[in-house]
Amino acid sequence: MIQLIRGFKDILPGEVELWQEIERIARNLLEDFGYKEIRIPIMEKTELFARSIGEDTDIVEKEMYTFPDRKGDLITLRPEATASIVRSYIQHKMYAADPARKLYVIGPMFRRERPQKGRYRQFYQIDAEIFGVASAHADAELIYLLTVLSERLGVTDVAAHINSLGCPECRPDFKAALLGFMEDRLETLCADCKRRSGRNPLRALDCKVDTCRAAMTDAPSILDHLCPDCRDHFDTVQRALTELGVDFVVDSRLVRGLDYYSRTTFEVLTGSLGAQSAVAGGGRYDALVEMLGGPSIPATGFAIGFDRLAEIAGLKPEEFRKTPDVYIAALGPECQARAFQWSCALGVQGITADMDMEDRSLKSQMKRADRMGADYVLIFGENELKDGVAVLRNMDTREQKSIPLDKVVQEIKTAVQSTQSC
Ligand code: ATP
Ligand code: MG
Repeated sequence: MIQLIRGFKDILPGEVELWQEIERIARNLLEDFGYKEIRIPIMEKTELFARSIGEDTDIVEKEMYTFPDRKGDLITLRPEATASIVRSYIQHKMYAADPARKLYVIGPMFRRERPQKGRYRQFYQIDAEIFGVASAHADAELIYLLTVLSERLGVTDVAAHINSLGCPECRPDFKAALLGFMEDRLETLCADCKRRSGRNPLRALDCKVDTCRAAMTDAPSILDHLCPDCRDHFDTVQRALTELGVDFVVDSRLVRGLDYYSRTTFEVLTGSLGAQSAVAGGGRYDALVEMLGGPSIPATGFAIGFDRLAEIAGLKPEEFRKTPDVYIAALGPECQARAFQWSCALGVQGITADMDMEDRSLKSQMKRADRMGADYVLIFGENELKDGVAVLRNMDTREQKSIPLDKVVQEIKTAVQSTQSC
């Protein structure tokens, strides 16, 4: 038997209802804040990701699904959404009338990393971006949305960590100070940090390897090196969050993996997922639109790990599992034919009706109705047909009533709607 690919998974009925509910809540929240959905391709030219995410990142170095198509052009399954959204924003000149745009994407991403709990090779993200707004309030809005979403999903045990990465004005100064600090400790750093130290020493602050963590404990803080504008920007983010009542932790070691960030950067971390503690991450990337060939337009955004969110959401899947409103137990070909008409008439009117099409015994059909959790069963056999009625049974109260055949659809509808409204 052919099994699915390692690190990939099916989301089956029973679990998918939770995903649908999370998606519904996230969409409503984003749309209430003026974000518009954009659907971008699953694949792009490799160059797009290599250039935007950065050659020195884990994603580009070792995690991308890249392959030549039949003509030999290199294409990559998207490892994240930001690069494609920026490409689309530029390609369609979405900035022309007004550069300010809020966009979101919900969908699968692909990274070839070691599969484990909370880490898959196809995983899902909810991604939101704000273009054309340099104000720190845009960053504060994104962080606020992450906390509101967590609350609405009943997620506890999460904390928003924030930092500023400075700008091209002040970061070189910090990089130099950091590099000076690292030079004395280069031998204790892991191979990745050593290799990246020349071009991107900041990555060592974020390294998960124990020896790197230990070596970097007393590293200089970027927050001591921010220029007045970056300082001001970061203060405004914090002030706005405090006024919104958002709890946050300033974490000067938070640098995140991608190269394109500047100024505000943030992560939402949870204690409930073991090693995979990041539920969402994001930040400002003021240089990326121009770097990918567009005008100089600031931008900021976040990506939420949907799989991890689903894992820690306090919602109960059984609350949204859909059960049939009515199960029609029809016996014999004539009754089955009429039952089929009724079940279709109910379906198009929004009443979920299920029926047995194999003409099994009444006993086995009743069992099936019970197993499926139907609210009502309509019993319709030879005797009922003779009497010109069908019997509607409330599975909860066990009450039964006979309904004339020409009233079946209407009566079921009334019964179901009255149960649903109470
Ligand atoms: P991590 O530190 O866990 O590798 P990351 O920094 O690589 O995360 P981002 O690129 O910031 O992740 O993506 C945003 C979110 O997407 C993460 O916070 C996480 O919740 C989720 N995510 C990233 N990679 C995976 C994966 N392989 N499987 C499941 N979720 C993932
Ligand atoms: Mg990663």
